[in-house]
Amino acid sequence: MPNQLRIVAIDDDADDMLFLKRAARRIGDFDIELIPFRVPDEGIQYATTHTVDALIVDYGLGGTDGGEVVSKLVAAGVDFPIIVLTGTDSTELAVNLIHRGATDFLAKSRLSEESLRRSLINAIDKCALQRQVSKHRLEIEAKNDELRARNDEISRFYHHISHELKTPLTSAREFVAIVLDGLAGPLTDEQREYLEISKGSCDELVRHLNDLLDVTRLETGKLNLRVADHDLRAIVELAVKTMQPSAAKSELGLTVSVPADACLTSVDESRVRQVLTNIIGNAIKFTDAGGTIEVRLEHEDSGWGVSISDTGRGIPEEHHAHIFDRLYQVADEDGFIGGMGIGLNLCREITRLHGGEISITSEVDEGSCFTVSLPRRERSSETTHAA
Ligand code: ADP
Repeated sequence: MPNQLRIVAIDDDADDMLFLKRAARRIGDFDIELIPFRVPDEGIQYATTHTVDALIVDYGLGGTDGGEVVSKLVAAGVDFPIIVLTGTDSTELAVNLIHRGATDFLAKSRLSEESLRRSLINAIDKCALQRQVSKHRLEIEAKNDELRARNDEISRFYHHISHELKTPLTSAREFVAIVLDGLAGPLTDEQREYLEISKGSCDELVRHLNDLLDVTRLETGKLNLRVADHDLRAIVELAVKTMQPSAAKSELGLTVSVPADACLTSVDESRVRQVLTNIIGNAIKFTDAGGTIEVRLEHEDSGWGVSISDTGRGIPEEHHAHIFDRLYQVADEDGFIGGMGIGLNLCREITRLHGGEISITSEVDEGSCFTVSLPRRERSSETTHAA
């Protein structure tokens, strides 16, 4: 704290001003230069254009009040402490002054050299601390902006790379499909088998790239839903139908059950199907041949629940709280980790964009059950649909 203090005093009472001048001279630890003003606006003008360490203002000024002076100083952005001298000891007034930006207040009835000294020291210390805090806040905000810009740059880079990789990959996949269809001449069984594997790998890579593109879209808030009214039963049944060949290939039973009546909802049909096929795909991946996967659409208290349960390897309980986090993966018993760890995270984010939620129950060696809960169709869209 500086030893030399320049303090502006605004007070239209000559006796009070005299007291302040005397007190200022006697506050031993400081060399105080008191700059007195009887007219508030002149004091404000001076304080906002000169270097000042603190300002003392009388609350009971004729024509205006000290609270207004505080507000004007705060609006001008001053960063020195403001102490208000009040005629009463009212807590309400004190709170009001502090809210308006005063650093401290002193009731005149308790005004003494000692109380003034203490208030000055506290106020100056408090302001120095506030200045430090706001300096740190500004530094943190600047760092945050820098990190956000960097993050956006990385997202754009991933988005660009994924696009660039997808184009030649799609073309490679199409040519493999052409050869597989026999359009380039007859194939032996062995050639067909190898090309099937090759096409499957292309499809898997496209899926990964699509997931990456979705992650970057989510990051940049550009994953837009095309919401329309749907019967959820059709979406669930189509998702299951799409995954049947893959389940059959893995020698798994895949069943679906839906209610007899329509399950109306307002969703982006392809995004909900993406969520369901992703979870069914995981169930297929983590369930041994001979197992079963059941997809069930049911009525829930606040909407619809689609549960996908499998008889697979299960997920240890300690992972349940994080399983939907981005890049979270669970190693199998041999320590192997496959995939990119973004599938379930995407499922959760897409479900949440629909106002829904996703949950898990699972037991090791017993199986897992993922439940996607979605809201029922909103009343307004129900009306639109009926009209
Ligand atoms: P990835 O994109 O790598 O497939 P996911 O986010 O889809 O990752 O899944 C995260 C992890 O959750 C996987 O690594 C896997 O260990 C585990 N997991 C997901 N679904 C199942 C399931 N049905 N049974 C057992 N483990 C599962």
